[in-house]
Amino acid sequence: MARPLLTNPSKRTLYMRAWKARHPEYDEYQRVQGRIYRSDPEVRSKAIERAKKWVSENPDRRKATLAEYLPKTRKERSQKSREWVAANREKHRAYQRQYQSGRRAKTGKRKVDLSAVEKRCSGICGICGKPIEGQMHFDHIIPLALGGEHTEDNPQTAHPLCNRLKGAKIGYTIAEARP
Ligand SMILES: [Zn+2]
Repeated sequence: MARPLLTNPSKRTLYMRAWKARHPEYDEYQRVQGRIYRSDPEVRSKAIERAKKWVSENPDRRKATLAEYLPKTRKERSQKSREWVAANREKHRAYQRQYQSGRRAKTGKRKVDLSAVEKRCSGICGICGKPIEGQMHFDHIIPLALGGEHTEDNPQTAHPLCNRLKGAKIGYTIAEARP
């Protein structure tokens, strides 16, 4: 009696399990089919949409899952990421460039006329207050890392070493010139 067997959920499950045990190659078949199915761009974008919708409707459950999952898999994820970078150097570089240009767009980095900054600072290091004779660096008075903007009034000229010593600090000054 084939019909009742397939409509009874528990019997159906047992039947499937037994069938799969006799056909171990089916696992691999399913994996491959799944991969083909998920590689369809439309399937992918629909799945991403569904996932986004679920996350926006269940923010607390998402947070709980991440809190449980992330610490457990930290090592594994960083190892995977290192392997990926090693195998995809070109892509990685492209992503980095993309990220940097995104950052530049956010901070408006391209708009600044550094010669105007130079004129405003008239050859003086903004960190130690001494004249700059050799190489000139540009330092952000409010560091970008702390939310400073790359607009014309935020950068100042600086000695390379003064700049390095200041790093991402605000209001840092040095008494001696550091060429
Ligand atoms: Zn200086």
